[in-house]
Amino acid sequence: MSTFIQKYLDGAKNMKVGVVVKGCDLMSMIELGKRNEINMNNVLTIGVNCGGSVNPIQARKMIKEKFGVDPDKVTKEEIDKGQFIIEYEGGHKGIKIDELEEEGYGRRSNCRRCKYKIPRQADLACGNWGVIGDKAGKATFIEICSDKGADIVSKAVSAKKLDTCAAEPKGIEIRGKTEGAMLKLGEKWRKKEFTALRDNLWDFIKKETSRYIKCYSCIEKCPVCISTPFVERPESYMVRPGYIPSDPMFHLRRFASISDSCVNCGQCEELCPVEIPLALISHAIRVEGDNAYVPKLGAAPYKN
Ligand code: SF4
Ligand code: SF4
Repeated sequence: MSTFIQKYLDGAKNMKVGVVVKGCDLMSMIELGKRNEINMNNVLTIGVNCGGSVNPIQARKMIKEKFGVDPDKVTKEEIDKGQFIIEYEGGHKGIKIDELEEEGYGRRSNCRRCKYKIPRQADLACGNWGVIGDKAGKATFIEICSDKGADIVSKAVSAKKLDTCAAEPKGIEIRGKTEGAMLKLGEKWRKKEFTALRDNLWDFIKKETSRYIKCYSCIEKCPVCISTPFVERPESYMVRPGYIPSDPMFHLRRFASISDSCVNCGQCEELCPVEIPLALISHAIRVEGDNAYVPKLGAAPYKN
């Protein structure tokens, strides 16, 4: 979403746009805003709660193998109350995410570690968490997070485009509990994956990046990497033309340049044809100050 606004809407410099965003979409927009690539004053952001996303190929495999359902018959899927739920011709089924992920199915690995479940840096934070009773499935929760958000809601109400009512205390409690459960899950996965890297991060980087084929997809698709200072140059000892893989220093330089602004969107990893766990490495480096699951590398702590 952030790349779309930056590249195809000229960074919203001369137009106002409203966009629906997940946490990682929003963070990458904010990062591009800091670099003057997007004019955030012109962007109205409507955040939605996000329990995570699933790679489509993995989703089909999981639906077939774990749910015993033909993926072509599935009409809807969602993550709710700690379950991955599918609706299909003839019924619906839910299985606990925990159970699926312990067996290697489930959400993308970056989503498992994500702790930005309700994007309150947006102008409005919406979504179904906390919508209960007869409103379930028919309404959205709205948290107003900025003056811009308040303004659009009051204008929509005045124009009779939106009906609002106060959130029910029970709904607020459920929203908090759902968010809390997802945050706990994120913490669990961080601990598990970062602890595994605690004593061998450098060896892990060297081993994983030894498959590198220089397609540069990770740089191209990263929403916050706006320049490509890594192009091959005959005089460069890191990315010499004609040699693969590049020297591991190339990767360290890339991680160093991106890790302080990496939003853990997982795009680099998702699109890597040789399956280097790039988002995991970047994430591990960035949060080491917060969690101390991996040794300190000297970077300033940064949280999201
Ligand atoms: S990283 Fe995954 S869980 Fe987090 S906001 Fe993005 S899509 Fe949702
Ligand atoms: S480095 Fe990877 S995970 Fe981080 S912002 Fe870029 S594409 Fe997303």
